[in-house]
Amino acid sequence: MKKSDADNSLEKIVSLCKRRGFVFPSSEIYDGFTAVYDFGPYGVELANNIKKEWWKAMVQLRDDVVGLDSAIFMSPKIWEASGHVKGFSDPLTECKKCHSRLRLDTLLEEAGIFADEKMSEEEINVIFDKNVKKIKCPTCGSSDFTPGKKFNLLVQSNLGNFTSDWTKEPTYLRGETCQGIYVNYKNVLDTARVKIPFGIAQIGKAFRNEITARQFIFRTREFEQMEMQYFTRPEEMMKYYEEWKKARWNFYLDLGISAKNLQWHKHENLVFYAKEAYDIEYKFPFGFKELEGLHARGDYDLTQHSKFSGKDLSYLDPSDNQKFMPTVVETSAGVGRTFLAVLSEAYHEEAAGEETRVVLKLKPSLAPIKVAVFPLLKNKPELVKKARAVFDTLKMNYRAEFDDNGNIGKRYRRQDEIGTPYCITVDFDSLENDDVTIRERDTMEQKRININELVKFLSTKI
Ligand code: ATP
Repeated sequence: MKKSDADNSLEKIVSLCKRRGFVFPSSEIYDGFTAVYDFGPYGVELANNIKKEWWKAMVQLRDDVVGLDSAIFMSPKIWEASGHVKGFSDPLTECKKCHSRLRLDTLLEEAGIFADEKMSEEEINVIFDKNVKKIKCPTCGSSDFTPGKKFNLLVQSNLGNFTSDWTKEPTYLRGETCQGIYVNYKNVLDTARVKIPFGIAQIGKAFRNEITARQFIFRTREFEQMEMQYFTRPEEMMKYYEEWKKARWNFYLDLGISAKNLQWHKHENLVFYAKEAYDIEYKFPFGFKELEGLHARGDYDLTQHSKFSGKDLSYLDPSDNQKFMPTVVETSAGVGRTFLAVLSEAYHEEAAGEETRVVLKLKPSLAPIKVAVFPLLKNKPELVKKARAVFDTLKMNYRAEFDDNGNIGKRYRRQDEIGTPYCITVDFDSLENDDVTIRERDTMEQKRININELVKFLSTKI
């Protein structure tokens, strides 16, 4: 059976995620908590593997990028300097009939009308008024809405504030990870033996009070970002921007995503300080949507933090004694969106005899479990013992799983559904010959291999 478009419908992926323990809705036994999700046993492995691949590409394989792990909480002044307290908002409208709260720019876009979250309240309301009859509430179908109002996405907290009216001076859960990079730029420069151009990369949680949260883990209120800021001389920013565009596109191809499911989206409506902004979009089951943003941001962020902190963040280039404010190329991706893209790409339904098998054709380095080991029969102690010994050897090198439950066919199906590239079966011949059957996930081909050669074989494949 050929893979059809319907194979990777969102519904099927959500169902697989629940069935096999990739993703659970948050607080499920309490009827859930909107727009927050938990990664289950296989989900955390996949998410960690995605982060490892990103870190390898962005830090390990480069000599001009270093890592950072800044705290989620920071001085509230940082969010004033960055413009988030005043300007980090999306336009909100409410359906007067059913009281659903909706993101106005998304409503307009879905009706084929150009709108952007960066438009002022006035600008977007002019477009809204002109087109309101074309727009229907997705919940009740009404076209009766309140005027659009900017809603700030920063999530507030009382961390370190012990007064009852803390909302007047809140601390914020970070709305993006990159501010932690900007405010540590000088620390890194002074300690890490880096010279411009260089980058700082970090992976971490971010929080946004998203108005509408739909499409599973695509848009959540708590999520993880993988961000890198590359500090350059002003005249070189666009040269490096082009280089990073290539590198980031290739990163997704390396994850196993096909080029036909990726596209560039150029931002026409730029914030005043930005030179250029593109998104890499992936063809999710609900259409092409942003996976990662790449921005040539100029010197805005460091200039703002210099101004608000009173600390000079300019750079003195030792090669020519020139002093300047570094400009920044930003690459900003989401772990959850990459996870969903990787799953959508890998999900296949194929005919296997009379049945349909669901198989995740994940790149082996991303697979939650690299190898599964089965004794042919559960009730034969000598088989179980030998299979255990194989498992104990392999687990030292790979995330492995031991499974003696049900018939072999069912055990294969289970591993196919979680994307395990290799399954090993220990049978009666293994007791005589010290060899096992190894089965490959995508081709389902099986061959015999000596136990002593397993680690070497797997190391060439994974
Ligand atoms: P969108 O336009 O979809 O709201 P954005 O342009 O606000 O996204 P950025 O601020 O550029 O997103 O964040 C960088 C990346 O972080 C995004 O490309 C995405 O992968 C991820 N991201 C942002 N917001 C969310 C969210 N609410 N849930 C999950 N991932 C997110």
